[in-house]
Amino acid sequence: MAFTLSPLAYAFDALEPHIDARTMEIHHDKHHAAYTNNLNAAIAGTDLEPLAIEDLLVRGFDKPAVRNNGGGFWNHNLFWDIMAPGGANAPFGPLADAINADYGSYDKFREEFSKAAATRFGSGWAWLCAHKGGKVEICSTANQDNPLMPGIGCGGTPVLGIDVWEHAYYLHYQNRRPDYIAAFYHVINWTEVARRYDLAR
Ligand code: MN
Repeated sequence: MAFTLSPLAYAFDALEPHIDARTMEIHHDKHHAAYTNNLNAAIAGTDLEPLAIEDLLVRGFDKPAVRNNGGGFWNHNLFWDIMAPGGANAPFGPLADAINADYGSYDKFREEFSKAAATRFGSGWAWLCAHKGGKVEICSTANQDNPLMPGIGCGGTPVLGIDVWEHAYYLHYQNRRPDYIAAFYHVINWTEVARRYDLAR
């Protein structure tokens, strides 16, 4: 098996009451596991098999099974990491400077990011991406697409993402996606987002 599902680095109930334990368990153990297994099946025995996941998102882009499951594998790895409890609860350092430069303030950034997440029709993600040179940009993508894929989204490196598939919130929030988006800000680990920003900028 080329890719493996990493266990969560924290307990399923660690993000309560904002994201419930049952949702986390099903999301990780069923949905993320399925993307991982289906990605491995899609690349087994092909010339894509030895590639790193970031290369697969580009080279396998024209193969739906690789695009969908490779995106699902990468996107959820980011998602678990940037929600880990215990880190900074607001942007700081160079990332905070970039957010203030490009969006005016943290509050204004949250407004724009929430809008991108809320208005994504159907299933998908909203992202904060870092560009080389330090600029940050909000965008959203459909399904399991991701800005690392060619011609998709804003084209930077995603450093923060919110999953707005119904499976990410429906058990607790039902159709109230905006409530889930508002709750998400309580569980973002800005220490991890900043670490990723520093690597990407
Ligand atoms: Mn998901």
